[in-house]
Amino acid sequence: MATEKRRNDNGKRYADKKYDSKQMTQKTYRRTDSKPNTSCPVFKTCGGCQLLDVPYEKQVKKKREQLTEQLKTFCKLDDFISMENPAHYRHKVTATFDRDRKGNIISGVYREGTHYVVPVEHCLLENQKADAIIATIRGLLKSFKIKTYDEDSGYGLLRHVLVRVGYATGQVMVVLVLASPIMPSKNNFVKALRKEHPEITTVVVNVNDKRTSMVLGEKEQVIYGPGFIEDKLCGCTFKISPKSFYQVNPVQTEKLYTKAIEYAGLTGKETVLDAYCGTGTIGMIAASKAGNVIGVELNKDAVRDAVTNAKRNQISNIRFYQKDAGEFMMQVAESGDKVDVVLMDPPRSGSSEVFLDALCRLSPKKVVYVSCNPETLVRDLEYLVKRGYRVERACGVDMFPNTEHVETVCLLSKLHEAKHHVNVTLDMDELDVTSAESKATYEEIKDYVLEKHGLQVTNLYIAQVKRKCGIIERENYNKSKSEDTKQPQCSEDKEKAIRDALEHFGMV
Ligand code: SAH
Repeated sequence: MATEKRRNDNGKRYADKKYDSKQMTQKTYRRTDSKPNTSCPVFKTCGGCQLLDVPYEKQVKKKREQLTEQLKTFCKLDDFISMENPAHYRHKVTATFDRDRKGNIISGVYREGTHYVVPVEHCLLENQKADAIIATIRGLLKSFKIKTYDEDSGYGLLRHVLVRVGYATGQVMVVLVLASPIMPSKNNFVKALRKEHPEITTVVVNVNDKRTSMVLGEKEQVIYGPGFIEDKLCGCTFKISPKSFYQVNPVQTEKLYTKAIEYAGLTGKETVLDAYCGTGTIGMIAASKAGNVIGVELNKDAVRDAVTNAKRNQISNIRFYQKDAGEFMMQVAESGDKVDVVLMDPPRSGSSEVFLDALCRLSPKKVVYVSCNPETLVRDLEYLVKRGYRVERACGVDMFPNTEHVETVCLLSKLHEAKHHVNVTLDMDELDVTSAESKATYEEIKDYVLEKHGLQVTNLYIAQVKRKCGIIERENYNKSKSEDTKQPQCSEDKEKAIRDALEHFGMV
């Protein structure tokens, strides 16, 4: 996530775009003088590591407390999963190429919210092999007469370099992002690069000829090796193409996926839907513990990788669909097919209402929600809780040490439908809801009380308690018109349980 943030483009262009890398470094050293806890010369200027000057234990404490606060209305948190060695964990590194004022070739990251390139030679988060490869490329450009791309004039060739290092396999993919498809002496360039780094297993040219802050363009040409790398997570092998999403911190990803599968509590019989599945990672790890798995993902390349991955791992009980997850969920809900567990791992923006609505209609017993953005997670949990789900467990995982980002995995379960009904005479207008009431239906409150407290309560009792809480204003809510005087009165324990439900649904 850190790189995503660094790449943010607020659309502003600065008149004086160029930096002198030396000036830059001096300036940032001065800044860091007052921040003795970090040795990074571009701390703050780069904007990638907001917490680099905070000792790691304190970072973890801060993240844990923040998440506890954000999720306090839903459930208590399981132990936060921190990282044992929180350095050089990013196995995907993207460097933007440019020139400083003196014409020296630099590579690094966009200063947050701008198109200034902050030169980075050694990053405390990035894989060191990846940084060394990027340094070699910087050194080779001159002798190969490859110009860096200039965003203002549109001249030049090399825009970015993306390096991905397989954690378990050691395979290395280098993607050269060029402004045009012609790369001079590409074979010799690969030869020279591999002479320094024989560990490179594939080199791909990606063409991005658009004025955009997106790193990768559409077209690709493999100039060395197979055009992808493989990596292993939780015992499965995964093919990773340049454009496929694959988590950047493999050590913590294993812990995250293990927690997600633990929460799913699979017995070997379930139908599992892995939504926003990327290259099929979570679904494939779940497949050996489930009856069958369905994966859905929007990105074509990722789905292609997912299909190959299933074959490669000899997993036959998994199918993939390339589709918008919301649309797909709607179709599944309408088809009447049964799904027991939904695993969902949406992007930072969270899930769509179409998806969540279809999810509620599909009504799986369990939902395991993996999120990289607590704010959208809370928003989506609120929606699901109102529609009859309860958050059972949640756990924070530090996927991005030294940054403010935090990953969360949550388990939600469907509250059972009430098995017994008690008939109560109430007029229809007594069941009208005001806007304050509309947060949870009488049925949802009854389900919650039965599930959590083992008590059956009537609409009348709920209405009585609501009135006591000041949610219902009208006089007749706790009175049946037909029997104005003798009303059964809600007992103390039931009242307590109903109050708990009202609190749970955020109504009091
Ligand atoms: N679960 C995977 C990927 C998670 S990242 C993993 O752990 O590796 C989120 C994924 O959602 C990305 O692969 C992205 O391409 C996909 N995505 C984004 N919007 C989507 C949508 N509307 N429908 C389906 N997939 C979507």
